[in-house]
Amino acid sequence: MAVPKRRTSKSRKNKRRTHFKLEVPGMTICPNCGALIKSHHVCPECGYYKGEEVVAKA
Ligand SMILES: [Zn+2]
Repeated sequence: MAVPKRRTSKSRKNKRRTHFKLEVPGMTICPNCGALIKSHHVCPECGYYKGEEVVAKA
């Protein structure tokens, strides 16, 4: 069975994990109310999409 000759150093391990981040992709700020929303979706906070109210808020 193949076994690594050298143990992965802390620095090498950390460099590999630079791509391993905590972040929410595809989110934008609503231009109407400023909430964090999913892009290409109607804002769940104010019901606006592309500058118009599409869903009336009670
Ligand atoms: Zn909004």
